[in-house]
Amino acid sequence: MTELLYLKDSYLKEFDAEILEIIGNAVVLDKTAFYYQGGGQPCDLGTLNGKKVLEVVKRDGKILHRLESTEGFRAGEKAHGVLDWERRYYFMRMHSSAHIMAGVIFKETGKMITGNQLGMPESRMDFNMENYNPEFFKELEKKTNQVIEGNLVQEISFKSREETLKMPELFRLQDVLPKEIPEFRIVSIGDFDVQADGGTHVKNTREIGKVRILRTENKGAQNRRIYWTLE
Ligand SMILES: [Zn+2]
Repeated sequence: MTELLYLKDSYLKEFDAEILEIIGNAVVLDKTAFYYQGGGQPCDLGTLNGKKVLEVVKRDGKILHRLESTEGFRAGEKAHGVLDWERRYYFMRMHSSAHIMAGVIFKETGKMITGNQLGMPESRMDFNMENYNPEFFKELEKKTNQVIEGNLVQEISFKSREETLKMPELFRLQDVLPKEIPEFRIVSIGDFDVQADGGTHVKNTREIGKVRILRTENKGAQNRRIYWTLE
């Protein structure tokens, strides 16, 4: 098991760890600050002992840091990781903006999002909306930016599975309930929004900057896909 350092501290840019195992061209560490691909957030990149990290993924319960070659890496030895901070920080801002936007959509329409994928420079989010109203998207951008400007502080806490499942409002993503998690990580944005979530977030909403909705498109009869970026 790899300890995920970013769950408690999303601002960790460098870290020291011990190498547990080498699997092909991938290194498994006892702890890591690299976010692995998942939950709609792309993985972190950077370096491990100065070697480029090409991808970080979870396979069979193991967090794999894939390198071009693992030559010089040995189990039991130390590794120093450095994140590509510009990339990670963008995804922190993006992820926080996604929660706020989904929160506004939920408060305004009662709709939950059905999928999302963060990207650089643009991200997308899907949600149900039978009656398309272009005015709504102008309002959405405005209201999301108002929340961001509110200087809200994000806080991380942990709750037991039993306690979390009693609060369905903690899951904004429709039909997705993570299995076999004994403890959930809860991300709250001031008193605006609370979500069970494993992603990386900024501490203060002001760090996000501004969201700009780029376009929307139809995905099936009821689903609407919305694209946005950060300024
Ligand atoms: Zn999230």
